[in-house]
Amino acid sequence: SRGTTPVPPARRPRLTVLSGPSGVGKSTVVAHMRKAHPEVWLSVSCTTRKPRPGEREGVQYFFVDDTEFDKLVANGELLEWAEFAGNRYGTPRQAVLDRLEAGEPVLLEIDLQGARQVRASMEDAQLVFLAPPSWDELVRRLTGRGTESPEVIERRLAAARTELAAESEFDTTLVNTSVEDVARELLALLR
Ligand code: 5GP
Repeated sequence: SRGTTPVPPARRPRLTVLSGPSGVGKSTVVAHMRKAHPEVWLSVSCTTRKPRPGEREGVQYFFVDDTEFDKLVANGELLEWAEFAGNRYGTPRQAVLDRLEAGEPVLLEIDLQGARQVRASMEDAQLVFLAPPSWDELVRRLTGRGTESPEVIERRLAAARTELAAESEFDTTLVNTSVEDVARELLALLR
């Protein structure tokens, strides 16, 4: 019989989104992974948040004011953006498209609202949820950062409670029990 051989979809580099509650350790995992694999390209977001001590322009974020952020939105320069705990954050669109066009995998580390926007606009995006080992552990991490006021911590905890419920919308869950393990798992998903 003349069967048709299914043609596997072309292995093209994908956009991977790492998301999860604030304080779960997304940026720690990403930093750990990139220390061993600096070739993994990570999108640098724009934010209206003020830099924390040690943060540098163009490294952790591009720090912009409200007027500049408004312009980026109005000009369609952001792939997605969201307001989080009183500040706005967004992914510069062109840099991401250039990387994908060049055949390079792309990693975004963004909040849940942003992850949903990416899912809506890029169907083949891979959504990865980073979950805390437990709620108590998440509270401990958010409280222990020591750089935020009690009011800001309270807002982030409220956001985290809602965000934990979103796990089911994601393709994959990684539980952040060990930074080393999760960084390895994330790298495997990117490749
Ligand atoms: P932080 O102020 O702690 O650096 O980030 C707060 C939250 O904003 C984190 O959950 C982080 O992942 C998220 N975030 C950072 N950049 C972006 C972005 O470009 N878009 C969206 N939607 N969220 C972002």
